[in-house]
Amino acid sequence: MENKTKENRKHIGFFGRCNVGKSSLINALTNQEISIVSAQSGTTTDVVKKSIELYGVGAVVLLDTAGLDDNTVLGEQRVKSSKHALTLVDAAVLVISENKVGDIEKDFLEQCKSLSVPCIVVYNKQDVEKATEQTKKQVAELTNSQLLVLEDHSKEQMLQISSKLKDVLSSFEVEKRTVLQGIVKPLDIVVLVAPIDSSAPEGRLILPQVQTIRDALDKACICIVVKETELECLLKEKGIKPDLIVTDSQVFGFVSKIVPNEIPLTSFSVLLSRMKGAFEQYLKGTPYLDKLKDGDKVLMLESCTHQPTCEDIGRVKLPMMIRKYTGKDIKCEAVSGLTKIETPLSEYAMIIQCGGCVATAKQIHSRLQPALDMGIAVSNYGLAIAYMNGIFNRVTAIFK
Ligand code: SF4
Repeated sequence: MENKTKENRKHIGFFGRCNVGKSSLINALTNQEISIVSAQSGTTTDVVKKSIELYGVGAVVLLDTAGLDDNTVLGEQRVKSSKHALTLVDAAVLVISENKVGDIEKDFLEQCKSLSVPCIVVYNKQDVEKATEQTKKQVAELTNSQLLVLEDHSKEQMLQISSKLKDVLSSFEVEKRTVLQGIVKPLDIVVLVAPIDSSAPEGRLILPQVQTIRDALDKACICIVVKETELECLLKEKGIKPDLIVTDSQVFGFVSKIVPNEIPLTSFSVLLSRMKGAFEQYLKGTPYLDKLKDGDKVLMLESCTHQPTCEDIGRVKLPMMIRKYTGKDIKCEAVSGLTKIETPLSEYAMIIQCGGCVATAKQIHSRLQPALDMGIAVSNYGLAIAYMNGIFNRVTAIFK
């Protein structure tokens, strides 16, 4: 199942110095006035996002960013936000003009490499100053690919950008996996356990549950959804023998006692972490829970900005569980959305990522990579909870 929610669409960022024509290029590409175009430097102050259907690529979100050389009063902040935007995108378009290829462009291309963000370089404003052979050579050396020189903003030229983007996105494609891939077959009975407590949204299911139901149906499975309080009745009195039970991680402890050992059991969060997270690193990092010491700080990373409630998993339940399990004075902090993590990562002993249902695999990867590079243990909500409930091996057995 390819998710088509706005957040799961491919994100493409447009970067470059002030006044290279990023905004007018985006407007031409989308055939809409999305970004304000002005000859004055620093017109794009914050990152502007727009969802569009890009020919040959599909549904994408375009990000128009502030100039990388913005030296206005608020420039430093804007440059930071543009650089942060690079951690959110699946591909970058570096726009250059007037044959300017200096440290700014070199640094930017270096960052793309370190974040594994594919980048195409586009030469804009040929009418102002034509691209020289020297510029073309420099770009070819820096990127191993040809500079795309735009003669104008005609439809044909815009199609060239789409086509290049399509190429780089497909060559960097993270393995496409669906929620239940490889663990169910047609006509399997899949039981989903969805608690409805005060943290559940009013009148609807949450995205991981919806995604799993949809994937079960796509795979011709028989899908049953129950609350944890009805699970025992379903198994014993109704005599249903599920081929797989997927539960909300928060009730892992309760559910694992009801479900016989021979029935495969896992959680929505674990499934999502396998689909788009750093699953192998989570498997290695989760046992670090046993090494936490008094005063250690643990960071909870949530990819959405839902309204926290008194039963919030990342802010209340999981921190309480960690303190109880370790018996230590552990300080837990939570960061929501894909905003910059302000506290230096080196201050954290461990990082625990949510299922990330609204984030792309690339976004989760970019967010966790700096911590992994520093050797910080990373885990996932579902895996951490399973570990603390003594069922870590059980909930990961189906993936082996
Ligand atoms: S992004 Fe994370 S915290 Fe938000 S609903 Fe999805 S799994 Fe839960």
